[in-house]
Amino acid sequence: MNAIELKKISKTYRGSDLPAVSDLSLILQKGEIVTLLGPSGCGKTTTLRLLAGFERADSGVIELGGNRIFDENRWIPPERRNIGMVFQDYALFPHLNVIDNIGFGYRGKDKKSRTHEVLELVSLKGYESRFPHELSGGQQQRVAIARALARRPVVVLLDEPFSNLDADLRICMRVEVKRIIKEAGATAVFVSHDQKDALAISDKIVVMKDGKVQQIGSPKEIYQFPVNSFVANFVGHTNIIKGVVGEDGRVITPFAEITCNNSTGLKTGTNVKLSVRPDSFQVEENGPIESVLLSKVYGGNTIDAVVGIQKGDFKQKISMQLHPSMDYEIGTMIKLGILPGFVSVLNEK
Ligand code: ATP
Repeated sequence: MNAIELKKISKTYRGSDLPAVSDLSLILQKGEIVTLLGPSGCGKTTTLRLLAGFERADSGVIELGGNRIFDENRWIPPERRNIGMVFQDYALFPHLNVIDNIGFGYRGKDKKSRTHEVLELVSLKGYESRFPHELSGGQQQRVAIARALARRPVVVLLDEPFSNLDADLRICMRVEVKRIIKEAGATAVFVSHDQKDALAISDKIVVMKDGKVQQIGSPKEIYQFPVNSFVANFVGHTNIIKGVVGEDGRVITPFAEITCNNSTGLKTGTNVKLSVRPDSFQVEENGPIESVLLSKVYGGNTIDAVVGIQKGDFKQKISMQLHPSMDYEIGTMIKLGILPGFVSVLNEK
């Protein structure tokens, strides 16, 4: 049974010409962590609010744990959807201590044992009687997650849960929040505009733009095989290179023949665009590609470099990374090769 199924959901706010969410379909298996990822205004919060029941879609179907909670004739209100919610600012009650915050609204007979169970799950044993203002940001976040999980919801929705944490804590909490959700066996939908958060915590990422789904896949699929230049540039950086499909599925570009894992099945002679990640270029003594170093930015464990490739009339700037031991002078000639694995044919002309 699917935990969540969204079928062709659309929503246009009153007074707006453009849909906030357009024809969105998505299936989540039980126990999966999914992140809705995209830039500001792409419709991710609207999707979360439609799931929670704070907004009503114009059309489509939503099923939760096999039950239809929305279609053109049906709308189950938020309090009857059995959804847990973690808000961006955590929304803890300032006058209630940790244990009372966690137990708030829980009506089960096992309230005491359940609240202590989730308290332990989020590693806050010993903090029962503290008030929110006596907790760090990361601890407050854990209380909010414990409260959302206490009722054993079909799904937990988390709206930008890491945005109020500083950089170091954010990295720890990605790992910790993933552990908590997996240990609880919960199904979770995150909203984020941060690709690092999404890559770290998700089983599946849904990349959105202008209310439409661009791509759904595992973090590796999204990073290695972005379907278009928007996804390729939103999740990491990339180089877009034009080429033509050759006889053996390799793509012939003006400066090299490039092996792509997803070019098989394409007709020879088709014009294509490739996404080649900066990490796929490497310095090779006898590499087939000649380039010249145009600019560099020192970044500690790596140097972000831009090199120029020129062959006849063809010119292209390429972003790549150099090992810090290769701190060449600007203008140095560098020979390059391309590593397979991070090259993908984009689904666009
Ligand atoms: P952010 O990261 O900034 O929160 P988002 O991806 O979550 O952005 P949404 O908040 O879902 O995007 O907004 C999608 C579109 O709908 C935007 O164009 C936004 O201006 C519009 N919108 C959102 N809420 C409303 C509302 N209550 N009334 C009218 N338009 C709205």
